Amino acid sequence: GKLEGGSRYTFYSPEMNTWSRDRLNLEAALRKGLGNDEFELFYQPQIDIRSGRLAGLESLIRWHRPGSGLVRPDLFIAAAEESGLITNIGEWVLNAATHQAARWSADGLVPVPIAVNVSVRQCTDMSVVDTIRHALRDSGMDPRQLKIEVTESTAMHDPERVAELLHRIHALGVGVAVDDFGTGYSSLSLLKRFPISELKIDKSFVIDLAEDNDDAAIVRGTIALAHSLGMRVVAEGVETELQLRFLARHGCNVAQGFLFAQPLPTAEIRHWLKMPPP
Ligand code: C2E
Ligand code: CA
Ligand code: CA
Ligand code: CA
Repeated sequence: GKLEGGSRYTFYSPEMNTWSRDRLNLEAALRKGLGNDEFELFYQPQIDIRSGRLAGLESLIRWHRPGSGLVRPDLFIAAAEESGLITNIGEWVLNAATHQAARWSADGLVPVPIAVNVSVRQCTDMSVVDTIRHALRDSGMDPRQLKIEVTESTAMHDPERVAELLHRIHALGVGVAVDDFGTGYSSLSLLKRFPISELKIDKSFVIDLAEDNDDAAIVRGTIALAHSLGMRVVAEGVETELQLRFLARHGCNVAQGFLFAQPLPTAEIRHWLKMPPP
């Protein structure tokens, strides 16, 4: 420890040891989980607001961690990012989603767009473009059916590089969506330079839509902005009829949320894919 400005710093506190030990255990378990095939993709339906029909699916990773049941990504994606394991997990996700899409269309089910989340660490170099290209070629999935979701904060992290990355992804014929829009302070001029086909309004704005005038204004403004730039708008976290009605009234294109369905395992997605497309 060192005395500075009257406060004492101890670098090897017991809490710190526990924290880093937990983190190392988590990383080891993640690495093992990849080898043991412990991950699964769930899919959440996205609904075309005007027709009420299925407009797409978002893939969301789950981890069957031995002894812990089904673990949600909020509990391990950050650790995967920090350890660099996200590259391997991201590759697994892209392969799983594209092969699942190909399986569904081989079974004669309606081919809707499938969105895959790509995190900031996966965007630090261009290798994710190769990963996407390989997954598409390997699976035979139609690139136009695939959509990559990057968060607004990822896009703003290193705009030059991410713009280049997104253009390469776009050149494969793959769509690009900006996730968690409204939380990342993006500049509009930058947004215009990205090949984005879709904005996803963060669920924090959707939750209080009916009660909070500011959130309502942000949502209205985002829809108008997206449309003026030729983008579709998806609202996430739609839980109530009231929220849906507001979104419909203001021309939002697609809704995703518990009002329609939770993220579901593939077996339960099949019947959604039997509905006619919008
Ligand atoms: P996200 O991309 O913003 O995904 C939406 C999250 O909102 C999902 O949580 C979903 O289950 C949840 N959600 C959907 N509808 C509702 C609703 O009506 N109300 C509420 N309160 N929540 C709703 P999930 O599946 O736990 O995923 C959390 C985050 O983990 C995702 O946020 C995404 O950032 C990340 N993630 C998930 N799968 C992947 C993946 O394959 N790769 C990467 N890099 N990140 C992933
Ligand atoms: Ca997402
Ligand atoms: Ca989101
Ligand atoms: Ca979010």
